[in-house]
Amino acid sequence: MKNLKDYTYEELEQLVKEELGEPKFRAKQIFAWLYRGVTSFDEMSDLSKSLREKLKSAYTLGNLTIAEKYVSSIDETRRYLLQLDDGNFIESVLMKYHHGYTICISSQVGCAMGCAFCASTRGGKVRSLSAGEIIGQVMAVQQDLGEKISNIVMMGIGEPLDNYDAVWRFLQIVNHPLGLCIGHRHISLSTCGLVPQIKRLAEEELQITLSISLHASSNETRSKIMPVNRRYPIEELLDACRYYIEKTNRRISFEYTLIQGVNDTPEEAKALLKLLKGMLCHVNLIPVNPVAETGFKQGDRKSIENFQHILEQGGIAATIRREMGTDIRAACGQLRAAKGKEK
Ligand code: SAH
Repeated sequence: MKNLKDYTYEELEQLVKEELGEPKFRAKQIFAWLYRGVTSFDEMSDLSKSLREKLKSAYTLGNLTIAEKYVSSIDETRRYLLQLDDGNFIESVLMKYHHGYTICISSQVGCAMGCAFCASTRGGKVRSLSAGEIIGQVMAVQQDLGEKISNIVMMGIGEPLDNYDAVWRFLQIVNHPLGLCIGHRHISLSTCGLVPQIKRLAEEELQITLSISLHASSNETRSKIMPVNRRYPIEELLDACRYYIEKTNRRISFEYTLIQGVNDTPEEAKALLKLLKGMLCHVNLIPVNPVAETGFKQGDRKSIENFQHILEQGGIAATIRREMGTDIRAACGQLRAAKGKEK
């Protein structure tokens, strides 16, 4: 069975013509129903019964099952454990801001990147998600919420650029006027720094916000906490970032997880300043969130604010990311592709 949500609009047109032998406008009808959130083919009321039967026999709507839902008592953040068709689990997080709802979605079951501070990589990578499974997260959570989600961050489990094709198709579907109609400017994609894919993405000239997980200002420290740095060191990564900015004219957001005694000294802040000077960028500081196996700790509030202050003084905009949903293990780096590992 094929998941109809795996297809971009153009691919669906082709499928309708070539595999179903139907006129092109059927694709328009089917596509629109998919993202209106129908849960059965019988709800596609403007299709003939015979076409609906044909669809049922070979395709699925790719609906994900909500296995568990946790709601934070601090800030209403919701963490969803979603089950895929093959029995695997992923997590998505819904955050409420004054400007609307943002969903944080996963791109893989597990992750192969091995960052020392992150829970998502503990069991390695099981597999990549399809485009339909990525968009299925938005659909499932939106349906449960009963309201429209306005922003998407690809910052959940997995490395999105290690699943380039599916992520690219997802970006086509989500942006389509008959799809979810969420503009690329409302979408952020975060990567640990896969240089060739960053360059490829630059060439697509999309209007999404690129976030780079930097987390250190020297190769020595970065390689210790992020194995990817041994392959693509900081200089190469920043070259790729400059290329991205040149192609898209978009400001890059650098994520910097502050870990006590590892990368949070004033010297590190000054070195970071030097690295980023003159770039069209912004730094998002994330006080490290607890992950049982790592033992990493946050420094005190003063040291975090001091780090921010040094960057700002040097002319780089820096914000401290608000922690959300820590009581339900929904914060950055706390998501896992497994059931039953609560807290
Ligand atoms: N693989 C992508 C997407 C993950 S995004 C990437 O690496 O960018 C999640 C963000 O949270 C990344 O910046 C990641 O480095 C950061 N993160 C991971 N574990 C964390 C933790 N324990 N505390 C705070 N941030 C963490």
